[in-house]
Amino acid sequence: MKASIGIIPIFISHMGCKNDCVFCNQRKITGVTDVMSMMDVSTHIETYLETMHFDQIEIAFYGGSFTGLDLNLQKEYLQIAKKYRDCGRIHKIRLSTRPDYISVEVLELLKFYEVDMVELGCQSFHDDVLLKSKRGHDRTAIFTAISLLKAYDFKFGIQLMYGLPGDSETKFLESVDEAIKLRPNCVRIYPALVIKETELAELSLGEHYSPIPLDEAVAVVAKAYKRFTVNDIPVIRLGLQKTDLIDLGADIIAGPFHPAFGALVMSFLFFDALSNYLNQYGHHDELKVLVNKSQASFVSGQGKTNWIKLSEIYGELKFRIISDDSIPIHTIKIISKNTTHSIDVMR
Ligand code: SF4
Repeated sequence: MKASIGIIPIFISHMGCKNDCVFCNQRKITGVTDVMSMMDVSTHIETYLETMHFDQIEIAFYGGSFTGLDLNLQKEYLQIAKKYRDCGRIHKIRLSTRPDYISVEVLELLKFYEVDMVELGCQSFHDDVLLKSKRGHDRTAIFTAISLLKAYDFKFGIQLMYGLPGDSETKFLESVDEAIKLRPNCVRIYPALVIKETELAELSLGEHYSPIPLDEAVAVVAKAYKRFTVNDIPVIRLGLQKTDLIDLGADIIAGPFHPAFGALVMSFLFFDALSNYLNQYGHHDELKVLVNKSQASFVSGQGKTNWIKLSEIYGELKFRIISDDSIPIHTIKIISKNTTHSIDVMR
């Protein structure tokens, strides 16, 4: 059985980043504006540990750009994390940063403190998208950072964003293909959102930027998810997590935000698979759809949207969803009168 993994997130906010990407207001995203004292970090970790019961526990420094922090601050944070790791109370350390904040010196330090995984905010592999988004680095910086990470034997993740200024479905999926060639250990995919007090907010007011609609974001990110999955690259997050601060109309003023964006993407993929089945085999009195319990809700979709859409296209349908843990993830088994078909949702 797969080991369960618990994450202790430590948000370092905008600290460490001297950049101002057009879409970013890290202070809003993380809800943290001040430097967390070392005492606060320890208390934070202890609070999490009190209730965590996982096979593996990871400390994760998220937000901002960890390796751009003042060197002493980096060391202090990493010392705490390593202390917990050395005594076996946590098992791994991960952090996120920018590609151009990776260097030999940086990686020597991370090795010393036994960091396991470095996630890189790459966003796009297209120079014009990076430039228009004011990322402050080009695609070469991504390749350089990743070859260094590989040379130092770090696990690494890639974060991509769809819908930045200058981006398109074609360009985004090309970025996905570039990322796949680099064989990251994990991927996060976010749709570009317009957050208050960012340059993107000003651009969208002035009609220089149009946020992508939610249904388009879901469809395109679903294609990306499929590509990573068939290439055995785990997608560990789809869309931003809902926090008290992040909600449409609060800090996010436009863009394809949905509190369950990942579930929408997965439901879209299951809809596609069911639709392909119905195109190929038609439908009979009742279809039994067997699916792994963890993915049963993706078959009907949120608010039964998949059923509603399928009925609109194929006429009235009778489905019965059966949760069955012997069915592999991303698979549905459809039983109709005399036939049984096993369908890989990702193919
Ligand atoms: S590099 Fe990251 S933290 Fe810095 S401005 Fe851009 S998105 Fe925000």
